[in-house]
Amino acid sequence: MKTALLGLTLEELKGVAAEVGMPAFAAKQMACWIYQKGVATIDEMTNLSKVAREHLQERYEVGLTPPIEEQHSADGTSKYLFPTREGGRVETVFIPDDDRGTVCVSCQVGCKMACRFCATGRQGFQGNLSATDILNQIYSLPERDRLTNIVFMGQGEPMDNLDAVLLTTQLLMADYGWAWSPRRITVSTVGLRKGLKRFLDESPCHLAISLHNPFPEERAKMIPAERSYSFTEMLELLREYDWSGQRRLSFEYIMFGGQNDSNRYARELVRLLGNMECRVNLIRWHRLPRVEMNNEELTMNEADPQRMAAFRDYLTHHGVRCTIRASRGQDIDAACGLLNTKAH
Ligand code: SF4
Repeated sequence: MKTALLGLTLEELKGVAAEVGMPAFAAKQMACWIYQKGVATIDEMTNLSKVAREHLQERYEVGLTPPIEEQHSADGTSKYLFPTREGGRVETVFIPDDDRGTVCVSCQVGCKMACRFCATGRQGFQGNLSATDILNQIYSLPERDRLTNIVFMGQGEPMDNLDAVLLTTQLLMADYGWAWSPRRITVSTVGLRKGLKRFLDESPCHLAISLHNPFPEERAKMIPAERSYSFTEMLELLREYDWSGQRRLSFEYIMFGGQNDSNRYARELVRLLGNMECRVNLIRWHRLPRVEMNNEELTMNEADPQRMAAFRDYLTHHGVRCTIRASRGQDIDAACGLLNTKAH
């Protein structure tokens, strides 16, 4: 397989230019074709000489690969199955919403975190995605021109593949890249000790923490990663950073009926987050298709909408900004926690 240009930094493109006998400024021209114009072939880079393009094509390709399957929800959400360069498969979701268009990208094939409520967690881990694979989900997305927001909330744990995630966001934000604002990129995590501090130090992108339960023992039953890096420790680290500027901090809270939706949980959230600059997003849980549950009876229930509204109101009245996220794409298993490529 030829090497992909998509995913290379300007410095690396300079190396490519030198390798095929082009002047250094050709690197910027290539970056413009790849990242700003989003061309699919080297032949379309018409300000490079024909000879240079031919030399380039001997060893390189742009690296765009279209989705091999797609599903469309009644609510306008679309889910795409993308092949990775290593032969894996990942799902990517596009969510239109009035004047917003959000893409939810995956960063790993499967996931090691084994969160109990998540279909990807039940798939196990099959491999990391490269920056090329992650960028391809954006650049080959049929709705690319409608995008306003990029969220790393698909399959995989971003802090467990941080090199590729940081390189992807760097290329999206670079002047020679897509010149995309970090305010329109959110990276989500269950919280990994190794990756979180580095992310906080190196990335200006928004951060979303998958919290789901404020009590350590209960959270650990849902999110095994809690046992190696507790939410309490994570909060201590998060408090060391300034969240009053452009970078936002949010906590994702999937609500399970009768399990984490009572006042006891709301009170604890207020105690923990009351004096922090942050937002809590309440997400409705969706029952996993039985095949993803390995025929195991899960004792989790979907939350009652009225209970969710009361929970939100409690938090809001006690100074914690809180919103209920609309559920999208449930009919095509594209909603939160439903992505799974085990069968592909
Ligand atoms: S919720 Fe996220 S971190 Fe947990 S298993 Fe699913 S994809 Fe992995």
